Amino acid sequence: MNESANRRLMGKVALVTGAGRGIGRAIAEMFEREGATVIATARGAAHNLGPAVNYQQLDVASEAGWQSVVAGVVASHGRLDVLVNNAGIIGYEAPHELTLDSWNDVVATNQTGVWLGMREVIPSMQSGGGGSIINVSSIWGSVAVAGAHAYHASKGAVLNMSKNAAITYAQNNIRVNSLVPGFIETPLTDGQADEINKAVIANTPLGRAGATDEIAYGALFLASDESSFVTGAELVIDGGYLAQ
Ligand code: NAP
Repeated sequence: MNESANRRLMGKVALVTGAGRGIGRAIAEMFEREGATVIATARGAAHNLGPAVNYQQLDVASEAGWQSVVAGVVASHGRLDVLVNNAGIIGYEAPHELTLDSWNDVVATNQTGVWLGMREVIPSMQSGGGGSIINVSSIWGSVAVAGAHAYHASKGAVLNMSKNAAITYAQNNIRVNSLVPGFIETPLTDGQADEINKAVIANTPLGRAGATDEIAYGALFLASDESSFVTGAELVIDGGYLAQ
């Protein structure tokens, strides 16, 4: 058997948001290695992505941005098989400290961005006979730490939005699942207060932070045909955090 026959995403076209660094970058690079044509997007300039990665700028909160990027992908590749809604931001304000602006920023990226992405890719998945949408939520989508009110709201919404879309588009063979990371070492967590990071890791049964590839392997499964009977699920990769 030749090498390409063993690659798990051969022939698929995948768009990944927030792929400039961290989890999204690991997903984009793993998908590329597994044979997919990857369109890696992020809000800012490309962050030293390998030359093989097709990078495009996309602020997921921008309706016009989504329309133009998805139209471009479909025009160039004729199809779109996989969407990974990964872009996300966090803030640690409690409800009484939040400003409307910071609430709106978090919801626009983490929640509205997920909806806009699904809305824009679904017509081409319907006409292409199906697809896989992977929405990145968080352990904070179903359990709480103090503060981070807008983040909790948005990540909880992503879990339910994914289930709704899974049911709505099952008849089109479009699978929609949530990917639920625990604490993963990335620029996002590197930028957080040390005491927050130490507390979350101390509460993680496997006793350590996760690596970005440990999340990317979950995305790979959900993107591939190996998960052809998986929809409306929450794939939790958290070192045991939510099992407690
Ligand atoms: P990260 O290192 O901060 O990377 C986030 C990426 O998202 C960056 O490439 C950033 O683009 C992009 N981004 C932010 N706002 C955007 C916007 N409006 N439009 C487009 N792209 C935007 O974060 P991460 O830790 O890899 O997190 C990735 C996802 O996993 C997020 O949804 C996060 O909530 C979730 N998650 C992370 C953890 C964790 O422990 N790390 C745990 C649970 C869930 P620029 O580089 O251009 O700014």
